[in-house]
Amino acid sequence: MIKMNSYKELSKAIKEAKSIAIASHVSPDGDNLGSSLGLYLGLKKIKKDVKVLKVDKIPEKYLFLPAVDQIEEAESNYKPDLFIALDCADEDRLHINKDLARSSKMLINLDHHISNTMYGDLNLIEKDSSSTGELVYKLMVELGIEIDDEIASCIYTAISSDTGSFKYSNTSGRTHKIVSELYKTGFNPGEINIKLYQNQTMEQTKLFSHAMSGLETYFQAKVGLIVVSQEMLKKTGAKMEDTEGLVEQVRDIKGIELAILLKEKEDCIKVSTRSKAYFNASDLCAYFNGGGHKRAAGCTIYKSMQDAKDEILEKVESLI
Ligand code: AMP
Ligand code: MN
Ligand code: MN
Repeated sequence: MIKMNSYKELSKAIKEAKSIAIASHVSPDGDNLGSSLGLYLGLKKIKKDVKVLKVDKIPEKYLFLPAVDQIEEAESNYKPDLFIALDCADEDRLHINKDLARSSKMLINLDHHISNTMYGDLNLIEKDSSSTGELVYKLMVELGIEIDDEIASCIYTAISSDTGSFKYSNTSGRTHKIVSELYKTGFNPGEINIKLYQNQTMEQTKLFSHAMSGLETYFQAKVGLIVVSQEMLKKTGAKMEDTEGLVEQVRDIKGIELAILLKEKEDCIKVSTRSKAYFNASDLCAYFNGGGHKRAAGCTIYKSMQDAKDEILEKVESLI
């Protein structure tokens, strides 16, 4: 069995590395962007030669994050001593940066997904932590980095995003303790909350209403399923990234235990699942080569919308 490493071991590897790359998963979210930028700013404070690598288009709602403009594509000859993968359950999630991660002298895998495959040279996986933001905070404390208001904004965004603004069962006393430390920097959580939760565009509102009107329920209405097709995006003027928050609305309906969102991409269906109290969404998605957490997981199915829907529902029936 691969052994779990400590914050001390990660800190030592970071101190010894001359050049460091930080990267995370495709379809960026608040946790991976906040964690990556928070760690990037922290490592810069202790004068490390560090880059934060672009993997995918950054959704507009996160463009307020400090140092977001410094996220850059890796050049072909770039070879860092140390590659830090954040919030990635497996190497494939690194997408365009996967080969660079593999060819680096040292690969750190810092994550909180239950389905993590332990692909690093150093692995620190805390499946009971709310977010990678929590882990990055602890790593920076170990490194002796002084958390300032910009770093606090990044870590707060990470933690708040993955806890559904401190609502989900992954929120712990530890989570609140870290956030209370962040408050000491004088950062502005109110402003961030508006950016994250009270900033829905009209196009997104139309998309939500359109998708919700097509809600289907299964298995005594314990399962809710909705679809977002390319045609719906065209009709509402919304972008696929605007689906963020949609599957959660289905989960929040009284009586629903499992919410499923099927997003029609060019050559595949991206599946997002959320559960409320007992259904293991990670187990469901693992069956389709995806993964995640018990209450939030995803996978990609390379089939037609109808086939993807039939296969998912068949598997749900055997698990629910
Ligand atoms: P999403 O529905 O895309 O917001 O993803 C929910 C959770 O599952 C997040 O923690 C993702 O990182 C994780 N996840 C999504 N897709 C995959 C996948 N294909 N493989 C592993 N984990 C995933
Ligand atoms: Mn994530
Ligand atoms: Mn996360």
